[in-house]
Amino acid sequence: MHAMMMNRPLSVIEVLRYAAEIHGSGEIVSVRTEGDLHRQSYAKTFARTGQLAHGLDALGVGQGDRVATLAWNGYRHFELYYAISGMGAVCHTINPRLSAEQMLYIIGHAGDRILFVDVTFIPILEALADQLPKGLELVAMTDAAHMPDSKLDLICYEDLLGDHPAEYDWPDLPENTAAGLCYTSGTTGNPKGSLYSHRSTVLHALFVAVTLPRSLHEGARLLPVVPMFHVNSWGMPYAAPLVGASLIMPGAKLDGASLFDLMQSEKVTASWGVPTVWLGLRAEIEARSVPPSTLDQLVIGGSAAPRSMIAFFEDQGIDVCHAWGMTEMSPIGTTGQLSIDMQDAPFDDRMARKALQGRRMFGVDLKLVGQDSQRLPHDGVAVGELFVRGNAVISGYFNDEAATAAVMDSDGWFGTGDVASITPDGYLGIQDRSKDLIKSGGEWISSIDLENVAMSHPDVANCAVIAISHPKWDERPVLVVQGKEGAQPELESFHALMAPHFAKWQLPDDVLYVDTLPLTATGKVSKLMLRKQFADYVLPEAR
Ligand code: ADP
Repeated sequence: MHAMMMNRPLSVIEVLRYAAEIHGSGEIVSVRTEGDLHRQSYAKTFARTGQLAHGLDALGVGQGDRVATLAWNGYRHFELYYAISGMGAVCHTINPRLSAEQMLYIIGHAGDRILFVDVTFIPILEALADQLPKGLELVAMTDAAHMPDSKLDLICYEDLLGDHPAEYDWPDLPENTAAGLCYTSGTTGNPKGSLYSHRSTVLHALFVAVTLPRSLHEGARLLPVVPMFHVNSWGMPYAAPLVGASLIMPGAKLDGASLFDLMQSEKVTASWGVPTVWLGLRAEIEARSVPPSTLDQLVIGGSAAPRSMIAFFEDQGIDVCHAWGMTEMSPIGTTGQLSIDMQDAPFDDRMARKALQGRRMFGVDLKLVGQDSQRLPHDGVAVGELFVRGNAVISGYFNDEAATAAVMDSDGWFGTGDVASITPDGYLGIQDRSKDLIKSGGEWISSIDLENVAMSHPDVANCAVIAISHPKWDERPVLVVQGKEGAQPELESFHALMAPHFAKWQLPDDVLYVDTLPLTATGKVSKLMLRKQFADYVLPEAR
């Protein structure tokens, strides 16, 4: 029997309309490329979004057209998210840290018609000028006074808004209309596109809001360190206006001191980002001997948050929530706030729990699959490939049948490529990406587990464990270390730290030192680049 309820479609623009009407005190504070700090209420933002939609109409943008952005976190980028999706076009965020080749590939693959660009990134486009698709229009995200001298033909963002009216007749779109497009960073093969819908975007924001209330509530001041070009800043630009939290947009300044100062001056209550950025904030807190005074929660995800990092921030009175997800999941899958029964547990037990990747969010199902394709129990012991399904998980990649076939199983679940276990009470433990696992003598060693312990070494600033081929054991783990102030701790000191937690055969065979670890376009340590860098390295035993 069919229910008799209105079938109003979920729609991205309704989130901002709601914030504009209901959350009058919510604001977007942005560190601008112009060099100043800019403030704007959600009401003003909604009005400007209407003006922008008229400007996009004037440029001939139609429903389904892909409109790209190459920009930092800021209010203009936010306005683009809503204007583009709201009028029925698709907001395609491009990661400026991608290689030129990858950038050209995704602009071509997405079929972008217009590209909005922060002035910081104009040199990237100038270098590619001859290779950009003919007819791609470029809009510089600034005002007339700050338009750069450029050989490119640039439209000015503020001129595009001009004196268009704030009122716009937002179309009633079916909720499965595409709203956003985001490519994975393509660490293997070409980047692949996740095409989000209005429905998946709004549901993801709702799920995130009920799952992370400590970050997301009326009056909260949320600082997205994770960029708007990396999986929509993990959904913050949608979840924050929904609940009435303000957004403090850091622009290009993501070093520890700048983040600390912004957190302090803007009374930031929560901040989300990948582990590498928190290394900088941690060093700043150590240097100043105090944490930012209003900071209450950090959400850390994108790669494994080391236990020593979680313990450091918790010790400062800052709640750490470890989260796991992927571009293909919009991206949040699991979040690590403690269950009620764990909240009074001893510190070490709580930290051990928090080092796991947390429990599934509503709207996300998890299953573990073993080597013979059989389903594995959630007993905290069985380790298998992690598959997911849910309301905000892709059903396939945009215009890429081969890549789609490689990740979807016959029951419609998406294979994450991560290898994991799940405890009976639902905590996910990511062992590794399957391509990063180390296969030694027919057994697997988790690089994440080894890194976790190595990160607690007092002389380590950052580290990674990679597999090196071995004539007898197939592969052996080697630790690559970026020392604090150039320190080069001995292998034995790592073995001493690791011995209580690992079997002897699991310990790394060697330690190598680097000045800085290479990072991917999304700010994670790039094991692909490390493996290339040490391709000719020979293990001590095999020399
Ligand atoms: P990419 O880095 O390729 O652009 P994503 O940002 O979507 O793509 O990365 C998703 C992957 O990052 C996951 O499949 C997983 O391997 C890793 N990841 C994300 N969060 C965590 C976490 N908390 N712990 C361990 N690995 C994580």
